[in-house]
Amino acid sequence: MTLPPLLLLLLALSLLPVLLGWLLVGPARPWTDELAAAAGLAGLSLLLLGFVLSGRFPLYPPMPMDRVLRLHRNLALLAGLALLLLHPFLYSTPDGAAMQRPDDPTHAQALGLGGEGILTGMLAWLLLALLLVTALRRADLPWSYEAWRAWHGWSGLVMAGLAVHHALHVGRYARDPVVAAVLVAFLGLGGLSLLYVWLLRPLLLARRPWRIAALTPLAERSWELVLEPLGHPGLSYRPGQFAWLRLATGPLSRREHPFTIASAPAEGSRLRFVVKEVGDFTRSIGRLPVGARAYVDGPHGALGQGLEGAAGLVFLCGGIGIAPALAMLRQAAAEGDGRPKLLVWGNRRPSQIFAEEELAAVPGLRIIHVLSEPPPGWQGEVGVLDSERIRRLVAAEAAAGHAFVLCGPGAMLDEARRGLRALGVPPGRIHSERFD
Ligand SMILES: Cc1cc2nc3c(=O)[nH]c(=O)nc-3n(C[C@H](O)[C@H](O)[C@H](O)COP(=O)(O)OP(=O)(O)OC[C@H]3O[C@@H](n4cnc5c(N)ncnc54)[C@H](O)[C@@H]3O)c2cc1C
Repeated sequence: MTLPPLLLLLLALSLLPVLLGWLLVGPARPWTDELAAAAGLAGLSLLLLGFVLSGRFPLYPPMPMDRVLRLHRNLALLAGLALLLLHPFLYSTPDGAAMQRPDDPTHAQALGLGGEGILTGMLAWLLLALLLVTALRRADLPWSYEAWRAWHGWSGLVMAGLAVHHALHVGRYARDPVVAAVLVAFLGLGGLSLLYVWLLRPLLLARRPWRIAALTPLAERSWELVLEPLGHPGLSYRPGQFAWLRLATGPLSRREHPFTIASAPAEGSRLRFVVKEVGDFTRSIGRLPVGARAYVDGPHGALGQGLEGAAGLVFLCGGIGIAPALAMLRQAAAEGDGRPKLLVWGNRRPSQIFAEEELAAVPGLRIIHVLSEPPPGWQGEVGVLDSERIRRLVAAEAAAGHAFVLCGPGAMLDEARRGLRALGVPPGRIHSERFD
């Protein structure tokens, strides 16, 4: 597996203050102290740089949203382990004589425990531990997603500020002005990223408002939402991309949710979305007033990128994961793209299926419905989209070199990937997006 260039860049940048420290200050301590300092400086830099992986910045090469957030999480874990476990515990303690005289100021200095720098370091350490636990166990917390996100962002920023203060006040390398400038620049970059996502971008979006043009029930617990631009030409997007929507609320509201654009660019400036009721916000979507303002932060995501050259396309969709497939199939219909296409769509019941007529008119498309709770007399596939079934249903397409687009909940994607791997489909031919 090749490491994404972005990951390599972030890792290299995070080592910059350590290398500068060695170059400008020079290691003159036991190697354990050097390792502790390096873990502290590199870990802190990685955390600060991780702020830019909020998912709102265009990346090159483009990456699916779930991979960006996974990278954000994995870098934070790596940095967190270095900062929590290595940094404070590897420093050597002063010699026995100094240990006998804890009131001697050199004792505190030898441990780097002088002044307020130690207090900010300890607070940052505790806050970081709390941040990691609340991120890894988010599903177990009694908080709304919005509350968790606000906590995650704000406490991350406070923790970063405390940690940089600690490094500048007690760190040996960070006392060098060049190393200090690099750390402060990384902190500034993190702060600016949050400022951009929370304030600047919403303010820019406020100048491009949208209107809820229609809200129609589509199927069991699923709605179609149509937005139209007010006084501007709308979005330029590729089928498969998604947007964060603020619906019937202000541009600065924290209530924003990601939804895939299910319409095709060929349809014009109106955007269509399909929304499944799963939680607080989506369960109340049907009650939003038609005509109300909306704000669209997008397009984001890279699903659908690189499918142009494929000999054929296979869509493996779980439930509302049909959304990106709908956009791509609608665009294919508009362009008369006759390449062979197969849609395998997993649902519980037939009442959850929609857009059947439209899909039947897409050139070259074959559809297989898989139902886990089929009605009496159902002749089709029964069960879920597990790896075994996927292997059986798409073996011919895998052998013919077709590209695969996977969309749905994480468990389904893991199963689908396992099935495709068993059929020998290379990762480059598998495109996916998680909805959870
Ligand atoms: C890239 C992407 C595209 C998506 N496209 C669609 C789509 O086309 N149609 C559709 O019905 N659903 C889609 N979803 C899922 C949709 O965003 C969630 O179902 C919705 O946000 C749930 O909000 P809730 O308050 O109703 O439920 P909750 O019970 O509050 O949330 C359920 C889960 O949804 C996720 N979630 C909630 N709020 C947010 C948020 N603001 N930002 C990110 N994740 C959040 C969290 O994982 C949460 O645990 C997509 C998700 C992603 C990540």
